Amino acid sequence: MKYILNGLFLTAVFFSAFAQNNNSYWQQEVDYKMNVQMDVKTFQYKGTQELKYTNNSPDTLNKVFYHLYFNAFQPGSEMDVRSRTISDPDSRVMDRISKLSPSEIGYIKPTLFTQDGVDAKYVIKGTVMEVMLNKPIFPGENTVLNMNWDAQVPLQIRRSGRNNADGVALTMTQWYPKLAEYDFEGWHADPYIAREFYGVWGNYDVTITIDESYTIGGTGYLQNPAAVGHGYTVPGQKPMHPVKGKYTWHFLAPDVHDFAWAADANYVHDTYPGPNGVTLHFFYKDDPEIAENWKNLQPKTAELMEFFNEQVGEYPYEQYSVIQGGDGGMEYAMCTMITGDRNFGSLVGVTAHELAHSWFQFVLATNESKHEWMDEGFTSYISDEAMNSVMQEKKPNPHSGSYRSYFFMATSGVEQPLTTHADRYASNRAYGVNAYSKGSVFLTQLGYVIGPENLSKTLKRYYTDFKFKHPTPNDFIRTAEKVSGFELDWYLTDWAQTTNTIDYAIKAVDNEGENTKVTLERIGLMPMPIDLYVTYEDDSQELFYIPLRMTWGEKSNPFTDLKRTVLEDWAWAFPTYTFEIKNGKKVKNMMIDATRRMADINQENNIYEK
Ligand SMILES: [Zn+2]
Repeated sequence: MKYILNGLFLTAVFFSAFAQNNNSYWQQEVDYKMNVQMDVKTFQYKGTQELKYTNNSPDTLNKVFYHLYFNAFQPGSEMDVRSRTISDPDSRVMDRISKLSPSEIGYIKPTLFTQDGVDAKYVIKGTVMEVMLNKPIFPGENTVLNMNWDAQVPLQIRRSGRNNADGVALTMTQWYPKLAEYDFEGWHADPYIAREFYGVWGNYDVTITIDESYTIGGTGYLQNPAAVGHGYTVPGQKPMHPVKGKYTWHFLAPDVHDFAWAADANYVHDTYPGPNGVTLHFFYKDDPEIAENWKNLQPKTAELMEFFNEQVGEYPYEQYSVIQGGDGGMEYAMCTMITGDRNFGSLVGVTAHELAHSWFQFVLATNESKHEWMDEGFTSYISDEAMNSVMQEKKPNPHSGSYRSYFFMATSGVEQPLTTHADRYASNRAYGVNAYSKGSVFLTQLGYVIGPENLSKTLKRYYTDFKFKHPTPNDFIRTAEKVSGFELDWYLTDWAQTTNTIDYAIKAVDNEGENTKVTLERIGLMPMPIDLYVTYEDDSQELFYIPLRMTWGEKSNPFTDLKRTVLEDWAWAFPTYTFEIKNGKKVKNMMIDATRRMADINQENNIYEK
């Protein structure tokens, strides 16, 4: 009952969000019904899929594309060859795919495909399946696509697979034929080379038949807890008798764009109350070495969810699961798969990051392949803030690590712009620094430009306006503009579309009688407003604020206990800027941006010491 009410509520939010923001916005819609029969001995499974696909676009579609991600785990695949030819391969992948035997590879092989009951032609190239439709799908119409398939779960190499390093039997992510997304930029049938996903919003109805000893955790609300037990029922309640040694698990997941699950015969399954009635589930191996950390993680997960609810917006589903599985940490719908044999700080840290993705990636579902920094960067930003608060790390700047990584890359000569497609980075390192660090600095530094209170409001409004959609970088920056009143397109352009850097300097400080003449210089190409902190010889302090003309805005004083003087704005084209301090005080020292939120690649020329 609770599920049905929430489903209706979510649907209402869906449509009102369309109406409020952008009348021309549309998104496709899927309704999946899948049945899976898993053989836990051979790691092979059979699946059937009935997919109702609604074309909300203004275009007539003559074909559709599917992702068959498991095909990446075959010798000679694009993922394999890329890993063997990139300069810094992921240590989890290396040449391991090339060494998989036929019984260890992954595959999804369709055995039947129909459109509205009639066979349709298709071709499969690597991880992508192209279907030539029998009849076009006109704007506003829908069609029913049926597929049956045989599949094999690969030995775990990356993200999904069998028998991971922690001994988890099945990490079932990217495991089913998944329709590619079609949006205002057309089809996004990206091959699975290394990373990043983009899916169609909709509903999933999934039944999984598996040996009775296996516990399943994952996306979706279990519809038959009393039948299967495994920690989903009240203690003491006996599940039904399995049929031929197997249980069939039935899950429903409304308003998601993916479905993931994991299963193991040796999982402990705990639940813990989260904020606003959300149930937190924890699935971990029954191993005394990790049990204490996994118990202590549970109240911390609730605190983390509370933090994100307050800072961004309320988590919209009824459950969230932290599942031991995968090969590090990876985010999915209503759950995460993480490796579990970690120290406590690392266990909380990875959970904080993956849980934060429920906001930045899952509910705010940007196209990660194109805008990887909007999910990894924003997630890094908010999870660093959360760790500082929940783990009481009390760092003055929890983002300093992100700045350090960015500075290293920006001065390396091999930086690529943030607009680079996630698969097209020259190295894994360049991708990682851009997506995680430069993306995180984007937000922290935006707080420097428009003020922290405006940054905080921007995140909340972004969530309110774009949840359950596919927001773009422009949607985000327009939100920041509306909240702050600043013009900010230059900020998105320079930071995300170029490798321009920031370098401002204190060029000269001259005493002219009672007055002090200060000359600042813009050396880098990227514009910035300036906060100049001055300490006088009597140890009193003053903040001088030089707005950037092209923003047509003025932020409020970030330190209310510090005297601030707002100077004339600085137009970008002028390389230098001069002003005079005429209060009769002698200057002892001064510094551009003492909070170090402006990512100035040369900090040495930011300081003047008499
Ligand atoms: Zn992440």
